[in-house]
Amino acid sequence: MLSVKNVEVVYNDVILVLRGVSLQVPKGSIVALLGANGAGKTTLLRAVSGLLDVHDGAITKGQVTLDDKPLHTLDAPKIVAAGLGQVLEGRRVFGEFTVEENLRVGGHTRSGGLGEAIEEVYDLFPVLAERRKKTAGYLSGGEQQMLAMGRALVAKPDYLLLDEPSLGLAPRIVQQIKDIIVEINQRGTTVLLVEQNATMALSIATHGYVMEHGKIVMDKPAAELLDDDDIRDFYLGRG
Ligand code: ATP
Repeated sequence: MLSVKNVEVVYNDVILVLRGVSLQVPKGSIVALLGANGAGKTTLLRAVSGLLDVHDGAITKGQVTLDDKPLHTLDAPKIVAAGLGQVLEGRRVFGEFTVEENLRVGGHTRSGGLGEAIEEVYDLFPVLAERRKKTAGYLSGGEQQMLAMGRALVAKPDYLLLDEPSLGLAPRIVQQIKDIIVEINQRGTTVLLVEQNATMALSIATHGYVMEHGKIVMDKPAAELLDDDDIRDFYLGRG
């Protein structure tokens, strides 16, 4: 289980962005984290994966644990080594590199089995196999999202954090991404999914959290959140 307990995050020593956030992602599940722009979702993902300090942020209170081992005391590479991968918002692939080179970068922490891990990614995303020699910058938005996900998966994480994978993609591609997230989960990876597209996220999640102004304001089974019109209109924007 990935567990976030009472976490507070401050940027630049002054701006309190997370105000005591707790959430749990049980092993094997897909959990959705929803909320408006600026609610603090990306900050929470950065806090979990050790990427706050590059933005002058810091955890000032609380704990993050992965299978009962503390993560908040580790740096980002050690967190990856502990089994946690992240796909950042905005599909940051290396645009000048080929698809395959991007995947190799994702596997740099592996001690062996890189070729096999890359083949597994190609199995999951056949379009990446077709484009393996192509420069990543020339891929479509959806393909770049798949590459960003594939790059994280090469490290074979037990837990994967996804930051708005559907952002800016056409509905048909969103559907594909959604199916792939389900497949990734069925292959054994636990997923924490941050999304503005609440309907998409809640349709595949078991549990959902809603964040507002740096706090969790709702915490319910995904089906219950999905069924509640008021919640959908009010908190989740798009329905
Ligand atoms: P979005 O969907 O727009 O990414 P979000 O819910 O992920 O929204 P965050 O990006 O975590 O929200 O931002 C939460 C708040 O923290 C915002 O008010 C934002 O302006 C602020 N913030 C984010 N990064 C920094 C930073 N490096 N320094 C100062 N404030 C920041």
